[in-house]
Amino acid sequence: MFSSFRAQLMLALGGLALIVSVGLIVYVDQASSEQLATASKNRLASVSDAIAQTLATSITERKRAIVVLSQAPSLLEKSLDDDAIQGLLEDLQDAYPDYAWVGVADAKGTVRSAANDMLEGKSVANRPWFIEGIKGPHLGDLHEAVLLAQMLPNHSNEPLRFVDFAAPIIDNNGNTLGVLATHAQWSWVTSLIESTVSTGSLSDGIEVFVINSQNEILYPYAKIGKLTVPDLSGAGQTPVVWADGGLFLTSTSAVSPNTSTQLGWKVVVRQPVELALAPVEQLRKRLALFGLLVVAIAMLVAYILARRTSRPIERLHRVARDVLAGAEAPPEPRQFKGPFEIRELYRAFHDMTLNLLQRKTQLEAVNASLEQTINERTAQLRGANEHLEQLARRDSLTGLLNRLAATERLKDEFLRYKRNSTPYAVLMLDIDHFKRINDTYGHHAGDRALQGCAAVLSANLRESDFIARFGGEEFIVILPDTSLLSAHEVAVKICLAISQTPPAGVDALTISVGVACARPAHLDKDDMAIVHDADQALYRAKANGRNRVETYTANDALID
Ligand code: GH3
Ligand code: MG
Ligand code: MG
Repeated sequence: MFSSFRAQLMLALGGLALIVSVGLIVYVDQASSEQLATASKNRLASVSDAIAQTLATSITERKRAIVVLSQAPSLLEKSLDDDAIQGLLEDLQDAYPDYAWVGVADAKGTVRSAANDMLEGKSVANRPWFIEGIKGPHLGDLHEAVLLAQMLPNHSNEPLRFVDFAAPIIDNNGNTLGVLATHAQWSWVTSLIESTVSTGSLSDGIEVFVINSQNEILYPYAKIGKLTVPDLSGAGQTPVVWADGGLFLTSTSAVSPNTSTQLGWKVVVRQPVELALAPVEQLRKRLALFGLLVVAIAMLVAYILARRTSRPIERLHRVARDVLAGAEAPPEPRQFKGPFEIRELYRAFHDMTLNLLQRKTQLEAVNASLEQTINERTAQLRGANEHLEQLARRDSLTGLLNRLAATERLKDEFLRYKRNSTPYAVLMLDIDHFKRINDTYGHHAGDRALQGCAAVLSANLRESDFIARFGGEEFIVILPDTSLLSAHEVAVKICLAISQTPPAGVDALTISVGVACARPAHLDKDDMAIVHDADQALYRAKANGRNRVETYTANDALID
């Protein structure tokens, strides 16, 4: 399935894109998740720090205000129940509306003067603020209203709770005259917290708690007794499991006012982990989407690239096949589009192919001319052979056909006779006393006499008749389709013609002729049987006085 170059390239590039984008996404995810988580932690820490800081400052300031007021000259100079002192106390309450009570108790613990005359004349000797305040400046932990519970209006749905500030009143002689104290309403801390953190910064499930040194919740009231604060020792680093459900990023900041007494309060800010890390989740989703997009684009690019690269190769393949199938020539290189390397490859292929085709054409031309030469040579050879064959069948002295040709013709006629019973005749001619001519006129004259005889024979026979020199001074004439009678006539005519035209230089020349015709008896023998018959007749012609014609008879056969 992935054997094609295009698919492999796509797979490689797509796989590479996938690996790179997954790697990048994992890296970016880790880096940014950490950053976002740290940012969330920092955000919580800054909220808790800000609240703790504000709270501490406010406590310090209130404490200082009480200490300063406790040293006011009017407080030392006048009787503790003086109207002026009450006026002073009421001024203070006006300045801090959340002071539920401002008053002065004498050294015995009896309230001598208070804003709005509250608790005047009552003993506070057993109240912790008095017991501690007479010793020195005192900051009291949050407690519910005891004496004032009935006296103060309470419009909220939570009980009145106070933080006590007290300072001894010591005159110039070092005598302790009494204690100046305020009961600050807890609502002061509540409004401080709520003014410190804007509602916006408390979004995303962020909650603020104030806890005391026993890890008891002081704020918000709704959670008091309903939620136990878990161990927060490692809260800065890792999320903490809270009893009311789930994991929370939690930040704690100690409230450290600049006072001798430390309340051990802490501001705790928490946020559900899933909300705190919501941006991380969101980022992950975006990254995953982005990764998918990158892979899709990479696949598309890979596809286009693979197509661009593989197309020219496929075209090259097609052209090569066309050439193989007998195309005249591959297309010009400039018509071939594609990357540089493949165009160069095609150019080389093109040139090589042209070269090969050229060589093929040359080879074909050479082959053609070679074939022509061979044909010519063969024709020449055939001509020469024919000539040789002719020579082999010719008698050089007389120019007549020779004995070889005669035997072949005899074979042919015999076969035809066998097949069609077509009659043919044979004349055997022999010059009479030729030895004598040689002896008388010389061998040379003998030769000329032979030539003269041949000429006379040729002149007196038809084109269709066959004449050959059969031996020394012996000739054979084959007459196709001729009867014994006709053959005899021809023989007589030749015999006469020769005797009437002696060759030059010879006084007289005659021949004797034996005539034979094909007969059924020959069929049991061979083609030479007829020659044998003619020879018998010739023999008889010689015997009967020469210069005469004899035809073969049944008696000849008896002689034989
Ligand atoms: P007959 O009448 O019985 O045939 O007598 P003849 O002399 O013709 O017969 P014979 O066979 O005795 O002699 C034939 C002579 O022909 C012998 C030979 O020298 C001569 N001869 C054969 N061939 C040639 C040739 O090519 N040229 C010449 N000049 N003489 C030839
Ligand atoms: Mg002879
Ligand atoms: Mg003879």
